[in-house]
Amino acid sequence: MASSSFPSGQPVFRFAPSPNGRLHLGHALSALTNERFAARMKGRLLLRIEDIDRERCTPVLEQAMRADLDWLGIVFEPEPRRQSEHFADYGAALSVLQGQGLIYPCFCSRQQVRAAVAAQEGACGCSWPADPDGAPLYTGTCRAVEPTEAQARQPAGEAHVLRLDMTRAIAAAGDGIGYDVIDEAGEALRVKARPTRWGDVVLARRDIPTSYHLSVVVDDALQGVTHVVRGRDLEAATDIHALLQRLLGLPTPFYHFHELLIDESGRKLAKSRQSESLADLRAQGVTAAAIREKLGFA
Ligand code: GLU
Repeated sequence: MASSSFPSGQPVFRFAPSPNGRLHLGHALSALTNERFAARMKGRLLLRIEDIDRERCTPVLEQAMRADLDWLGIVFEPEPRRQSEHFADYGAALSVLQGQGLIYPCFCSRQQVRAAVAAQEGACGCSWPADPDGAPLYTGTCRAVEPTEAQARQPAGEAHVLRLDMTRAIAAAGDGIGYDVIDEAGEALRVKARPTRWGDVVLARRDIPTSYHLSVVVDDALQGVTHVVRGRDLEAATDIHALLQRLLGLPTPFYHFHELLIDESGRKLAKSRQSESLADLRAQGVTAAAIREKLGFA
């Protein structure tokens, strides 16, 4: 496998699960793909616990997740980075973007967003564009809120999210946003990022002072991650990550997107659909060696 052209030293990989359910075979595939890349490229392998959602992620699930990874025999460097312990880092990144005038508070409830989309569709007789995950793009209602009004409404405790003003962000970032995708052999191919297809993404949630997109970009940089290996379901989101990296002056790692495992109904395995967990398989007597073999890592 070709060695990375990342500035200096040893490649750094990470597996970054969220402890909001039990791990399934799809997670095993992701972790094992990272392990294989790290072994081939003599890289480091880190574990990151993506637990910004303090309601859905629990210490019990984190313990269970780590037991599953130990059982699979994957060795990560100690100690894992736990996102819930680093909200200040994400706040600092948010301040940088705020300082660039790229963030605005959005007070719309989900229902209001839905109503605004329906109104737009009614007016144009067309269907409103959706992001790559299928959610309708934000219509931009709160982009028009005067900063003085927004400033008065936030401390008054009105619930809001913080959104990236995509048009301004693109103008600030300049041309040529993209990233290098490596294949299994380590050969890199430059890909152009198309972040506008996501619209004004949420960077800090109503109940959580950050978001997946912001935290993942900050942590990959802080942990010195040079190669992000993850499933194809996160390929489109990488457009946002490359944009944020440019705006925040952070390096853009190499990316590799592995195929997703699908169930009998043709849908990707998901915690939310109660896909059979590694713990279920273990309880049925399946061995870690058998899992490795089934997934092509014998
Ligand atoms: N925490 C994300 C997940 O469990 C993965 C994040 C990433 O690999 O960038 O789906």
